[in-house]
Amino acid sequence: MEVIYLDNAATTPIRPEVKEAMEPYFNEMYENPSGAYPSAIRCREEIEKVRAVIAGTIHARPEEIYFTSGGTESDNWAIRETARLLKKKGNHIITSAIEHHAVLNTCRALEKEGFSITYLGVDEEGKIRLSELERAIRPETILISIMYANNEVGTIQPVNRIGEIAQKYGILFHTDGVQVYGHLPVDVRKSHISMFSASGHKLNGPKGIGFLYVRKEIPLSSLIYGGGQEKGKRAGTENVPGIIGLGKAAEISCAMQKEEEKRIWELREHLITRLLSEIPYCRVNGSRKNRLPGNCNVSFQFLRASCLLCQLGKKGICASAASACSTGSAEPSHVLTAMGLPRELANGTLRLTLGYQNTMEEMDQVADQIKEMVETLRGKSGQYHEFRGKNLGEKIFPEKWLIPEKEKV
Ligand code: PLP
Repeated sequence: MEVIYLDNAATTPIRPEVKEAMEPYFNEMYENPSGAYPSAIRCREEIEKVRAVIAGTIHARPEEIYFTSGGTESDNWAIRETARLLKKKGNHIITSAIEHHAVLNTCRALEKEGFSITYLGVDEEGKIRLSELERAIRPETILISIMYANNEVGTIQPVNRIGEIAQKYGILFHTDGVQVYGHLPVDVRKSHISMFSASGHKLNGPKGIGFLYVRKEIPLSSLIYGGGQEKGKRAGTENVPGIIGLGKAAEISCAMQKEEEKRIWELREHLITRLLSEIPYCRVNGSRKNRLPGNCNVSFQFLRASCLLCQLGKKGICASAASACSTGSAEPSHVLTAMGLPRELANGTLRLTLGYQNTMEEMDQVADQIKEMVETLRGKSGQYHEFRGKNLGEKIFPEKWLIPEKEKV
């Protein structure tokens, strides 16, 4: 069966060029980069080349890039160590209610250690309100950690404005850029970003590798103690194949960014337009404009996304109900809930995320399949039959959450 992979926000397939670049480091170039002999020194030099490439892609300096095991570690490191570094100055951190659990659970752990955390709410599109951010700032605020773009609904936050606010009040600004890095341009200087997290497997690179950018002036301590790797700040023998793969993936993604952004945006818009115009009682969540190019997050009334996913899976279409990390959880997505989506709609939500391997033909195949499956599943829904019979229309949910048939694009 041919597979159509539309779960690129969860992870992406490795590009062949990335795999090829990594291969020697599993074979003839297996040395520990800490070694004193020429072949080990060569490994070390290759790592430094990647560091410079990555720094260049976000307008940072090579010495500001630290390799980690991925997004989760980078988020933990930035937040935990900022808290430890600045606890004498203050104990207040501002984040948002729609962060990835790598940020949310780190903040919850800090709450148990006596830190006070403000979880900013979001508007209907999943965007924080800048006025609320500014109001939440206190003299003891030491960190603002707001994600660059959301992994479920794709909404991009006003990062430049958040950076300006952080700068104005002299507060460090960390952003989880895991969904953005390699897909959209990032300029840590222009956006006043103090720390930036990224992960290799979201840009067609390997899993288990990522990086944290830390502005040079911030004396962040190590999260992991051991040897002197990464200037003693992130101990442990380097994941050399991973670093090389991340470098290659970054190089390719950043070089192709503009054209891929446009191409994927068009595919996504085609898919969204078809779903909205051909399937009644569905809506797109998140901003249509300030959105990750590959993200399509749609809610279907009168069905459960788990049933739809199961049917799609049987046809070789890989998608997800909410974020991959929370699949299996009976609770509706914390992101959709924070955006105010009624529980029933949140439970009928599908996330389709596009990548470099997707085509327009696939978008049409997926739209055809979803349309047919939604009709079949609704055909078995007592609530749908009751709704059609009584023609309750918008009364089931507040009007704003439904797109009446007649208003479809
Ligand atoms: N942050 C965001 C926004 C993510 O989407 C993810 C992964 O889905 C992570 C952090 C965690 O990254 P990793 O899988 O590299 O630990």
